[in-house]
Amino acid sequence: MSNVTVCVRFRPLSHKERKANGDKVCFRKLDSESIVVKDEREEDVIFSFDKVFYEDAQQSDVYNFLAVPIVSDAINGINGTIITYGQTGAGKTYSMEGPSILHCNEQKTGLVQRVVDELFGCLRSSAGTWTVKLSMVEIYLEKVRDLLDLSKDNLQIKESKTQGIYIAGATEISVVNSSDALENLSQGIANRAVGETQMNLASSRSHCLYIFSVQHGSTSDERVKVGKIVLVDLAGSEKVEKTGAEGRVLDEAKTINKSLSALGNVINALTTGKQNHVPFRDSKLTRILQDALGGNSRAALLCCCSPSPSNAPESLSTLRFGTRTKLIKASPKSIPEVVDNVKKPILGTHDQDDLRDRIL
Ligand code: ADP
Ligand code: MG
Repeated sequence: MSNVTVCVRFRPLSHKERKANGDKVCFRKLDSESIVVKDEREEDVIFSFDKVFYEDAQQSDVYNFLAVPIVSDAINGINGTIITYGQTGAGKTYSMEGPSILHCNEQKTGLVQRVVDELFGCLRSSAGTWTVKLSMVEIYLEKVRDLLDLSKDNLQIKESKTQGIYIAGATEISVVNSSDALENLSQGIANRAVGETQMNLASSRSHCLYIFSVQHGSTSDERVKVGKIVLVDLAGSEKVEKTGAEGRVLDEAKTINKSLSALGNVINALTTGKQNHVPFRDSKLTRILQDALGGNSRAALLCCCSPSPSNAPESLSTLRFGTRTKLIKASPKSIPEVVDNVKKPILGTHDQDDLRDRIL
């Protein structure tokens, strides 16, 4: 991975939170990149990111900052990943889909719709030929379920020389424009809801992946470039109460923790240049994302937080996850000039490692 952009988004206080604590929030704004938060010992800690979005941030602000470069690169064969992280209720799905993937006003439209619009816009204005295929899966208790065909509830992840990493048998639908893509995705979202009631599963306990494969044949050099964009709405990162959790709830919590730490470890290994030891195989999530994160790729992590003091411990934990990812990233200067989907080494700097050791 050549670079990872890490942003934080505080959603507005909910009605309930406002009722409980008035306008109080758990952070102090320093500037557009930094905030101050009290840690467990009531000491002020400064957190800095590529960007902090506050409650007044628009969906378009989030999209423009973290997704635009990813879409324009994908049609040139560079893989991209956008991940939303945070506790349940922090705004992950809102950031991804807006209030509804099909029916919402332009202002509230989420990352998924904007990525799709931009993707087709770019492809239509390019001279070459192209195809876009989409898949949609969710990972629950380390099982991969096809959201475009619920009969496929335990898909296997495989690797081949020609296809790289792929989800064997996952439904792939060719789509020709935005509304075609969004119709199919909304079917996937509806299927997710059906599966949930059958399995008694809350969507916050599974990871949801929107996968777009783009083939783009440029007329100028006659090379077909294959790029993939994966958008990931992660399972809630909240810790389950240590006492009381048992059976399925405990299993869920353990698998979620395991896969979220696997994700952190993979990003860590990729961005510090330890590319011989990237633990992609530690979870289904990281294994599926192997192509999208490894090699020449771009990634963006949106850490979603509730601003409420009542959620302060979870927000602190989310900010720490984002910090671990951000502090170890390769400097933007080391982003290689890429023309194709070839693997190049990236640079990690000792300064960043030192900084991380001091802060964490
Ligand atoms: P998550 O997916 O992280 O569990 P949601 O995206 O479902 O959380 O958000 C929880 C609630 O907060 C929803 O009712 C959602 O509409 C609202 N919400 C989240 N982010 C925002 C925002 N930026 N602006 C307005 N409402 C938001
Ligand atoms: Mg959600």
